[in-house]
Amino acid sequence: MLKMNIDDIDKSKFTPMMQQYIDIKKDYRDAIVFFRLGDFYEMFFEDAYKASRELEIALTGRDAGQEDRVPMCGIPFHAYATYAEKLVNKGYKVAIVEQVEDASKAVGIVKRDVVKILTPGTITEGGISDRDNNFIVSIGQAMKTFVLSYADVTTGEIYLTSLKTLDLLFNEILVLKAREIIVSNDFAPDILKTIEKNYQIVISYENNKVIPEYLNKLVSDIEDKYIDTVGILLNYVLLTQRRELHHLQKVVFYQSEDYLRLDPFTKRNLELTETLRQGQKNGSLLWLLDKCQTAMGSRMLHTWIDRPLVDVEKINRRLDYVEAFNNNYIVKEEMKNALKTIYDLERIVGRISVGNANAKDLVQLRRSLSNVPSIKELVKQLEVSDSISLSDKIDPHTDLFILLERSLVENPPLTIKEGQMIKEEYNKELDEIKDIVKNSKDWILKYEEDEKQRTGIKGLKVGYNRVFGYYIEITKSYLSMLPEDTNYDRKQTLANAERFITPELKHYEQIVVGSAEKIEKLEYELFLELREVCLKYIESLQELANYISTIDCFVSFSEISMKNRYVRPEFVLNREVTIINGRHPVVETILQSEYVSNDVIINKFNNLLITGPNMSGKSTYMRQLALIAIMAQIGCYVPADIAKLSIFDQIFTRIGASDDLISGQSTFMVEMMEANYAISNATKNSLILFDELGRGTSTFDGMALAQAIIEYVHEKIGCMMLFSTHYHELVELEKTLKRLKNIHVDAREVDNGVVFLHKVLDGGADKSYGINVASLAGIPKSLIARSKQILNSLEESNVMSGVKLDLFNFDAFESEPHNIEEEKAYAIKKEIENIDVNRLTPLEALNILYELKNKL
Ligand code: ADP
Repeated sequence: MLKMNIDDIDKSKFTPMMQQYIDIKKDYRDAIVFFRLGDFYEMFFEDAYKASRELEIALTGRDAGQEDRVPMCGIPFHAYATYAEKLVNKGYKVAIVEQVEDASKAVGIVKRDVVKILTPGTITEGGISDRDNNFIVSIGQAMKTFVLSYADVTTGEIYLTSLKTLDLLFNEILVLKAREIIVSNDFAPDILKTIEKNYQIVISYENNKVIPEYLNKLVSDIEDKYIDTVGILLNYVLLTQRRELHHLQKVVFYQSEDYLRLDPFTKRNLELTETLRQGQKNGSLLWLLDKCQTAMGSRMLHTWIDRPLVDVEKINRRLDYVEAFNNNYIVKEEMKNALKTIYDLERIVGRISVGNANAKDLVQLRRSLSNVPSIKELVKQLEVSDSISLSDKIDPHTDLFILLERSLVENPPLTIKEGQMIKEEYNKELDEIKDIVKNSKDWILKYEEDEKQRTGIKGLKVGYNRVFGYYIEITKSYLSMLPEDTNYDRKQTLANAERFITPELKHYEQIVVGSAEKIEKLEYELFLELREVCLKYIESLQELANYISTIDCFVSFSEISMKNRYVRPEFVLNREVTIINGRHPVVETILQSEYVSNDVIINKFNNLLITGPNMSGKSTYMRQLALIAIMAQIGCYVPADIAKLSIFDQIFTRIGASDDLISGQSTFMVEMMEANYAISNATKNSLILFDELGRGTSTFDGMALAQAIIEYVHEKIGCMMLFSTHYHELVELEKTLKRLKNIHVDAREVDNGVVFLHKVLDGGADKSYGINVASLAGIPKSLIARSKQILNSLEESNVMSGVKLDLFNFDAFESEPHNIEEEKAYAIKKEIENIDVNRLTPLEALNILYELKNKL
């Protein structure tokens, strides 16, 4: 088989079709070309090798005018979406090539061209999740800042922001989970290298910055210096979709300061939208809060969690609605029912715009619209100061609804070229043709009856198939009864019957078949007209979708708040926090046992040093505070009895081990980078949560760093900080740092182990219980005994580095008894054995007896 690069090919030696392929492929070198031939998409040359490997499909060959066959593989056209999606998920782009002229009118070979390019950021087919956005991102530079713009092709949303540092840019890209980034050729290559290396994101280039005229209205409010970055994004998207896009929405510009800023580490550590371990939505805050009835609502909630608010008024407005739903159970239940009937308007609008919408989509639009009046009415009933004006803004699109109601049947087919979409009485011409068909069919039924009568053959029937059209069928046994003078023309002989046609039957058949074609064509045209009309409503439908999603989020918050007994947070101006009986929202729902609620009091003591054994609940306590703050700032009720909070501008966390495996950095390095990120960006209004910072290095190093970091935040930043540590020596800091307070998580030593009470109390822990926890974990008893021995001598000698102790006999220990009672008895036995009775005075003997009894 030929194994050559597309550039080494002498095109003239191939068949015209292959020449056509080669011409197209040369323009789309960076994509795998799906070349439509009949019912298949075929791939050739290198694309065939790549695709057969990636998709695990057979590699074959095709004769193309050369001695060697051209390598080829193919997929059935109707299943292309799954295959394309698979390739795109692996970072490839796919260019779809179709016939672009009517084969019957073509002179020579039929024209073919690329009709769409599927890329990781722009794919709209396959299994893209309804409840997530798929953002395509473009980056650029304006003076000294970075510019970031991103869009979701399926919903038409476009955002724009500027970022001061590279760190912030990377953060934002990570948060968006971008799979593809668009840049122009002059963008800094070293930055792109970092992105490619660390984040496995596809980089695509686009140099056309000029925004097409019909889209200029999207950027009318945007400053000139940002336009180029939006320009390359729009042009790239248009290039992939290959048509005008009318559903793209006005670009929304925001500054990150407008929101509570959360870096990607923090988002990950707090498991806001996915869990740390498996990266699943299940178990995250989003999962807990997402009781939305619509996919649009879920997507909006996701962006709310990504960008909590900092404006108290806006937050309180959301909370007002949640409270109103809480206070009106009936309205809430009715609202839930109404929302359930709303389809994904944003994506339907997107499909209308790209010309993909079928009649089912428009019926879904109609069904959704039919419920908007009740949503509008329900909003009005809410006791919120601006509920009337919100209700007024909700446009039920009555005209459009009436049009769709008049025109489309309840259950149209998926395809739009086979009729059966349009209702009666919508279009006169269509009704007339349908009448003719009906009359002809009636005539045929009557004809069957007449012929039965005339011939006296009871088993005579009229049937239809695609090959012969209408025919008369007579079973062989009746054939002899057929009169001589019939005009029956024999067409087909079956095993036990004969089939005939007649001129009359043919006449009506032509009417039926011809009309069917006419109906399909006319219905198709009528449907396209309807879709055109819908195009005019795109902007206002998007607005409607936005109101509905917002209300959906309010209802969702209300649901969860009622169910889990949350309270409305209050906001204070004096940088204090008072949380009474706070809970971790996710842990409390997942935990089998009872969750122990805890207060968080932050006032003039705004740095809390938390000590307590591992596993006692230190990081849960810290996470609890962060999650309550975030829930409050997205406008949700919070898990506590009372919650008074100040507004945070940023939250930083360093919690638990999250090795950055991709960039191959050690835990300790990552830990220090995250800590550095926090202390270099925090302001007085930020919240820092450091969990066991400095654990990843030697004890002296770690403790020194931990202490210095605490002092630095305390003295130089002055923001709220919770710092947990198992270096209980650090509790001494309370004496020198004025605003630092010790708290600890209560634990009780029992026998060899420890019981966690999960209760947070004032004061520092006196020891770290490390050995007790190890014993709980099932570490061998002999090893535990040895560590106790080492600990004792460390504590006695007061030095940190390896004490010299005699080697321990693990085997001997294991053969000795060591349940507590036995151990005590054993120790006493040993003591008694060591007593030299001959040398004891009676008083000493009495004392020893007294001590032994005490020990028991
Ligand atoms: P630490 O940070 O001290 O090692 P964690 O915060 O990771 O401890 O908590 C360990 C486990 O203890 C958690 O997985 C949870 O199951 C349980 N836990 C923590 N806090 C509480 C609480 N307040 N009530 C009940 N269980 C808790």
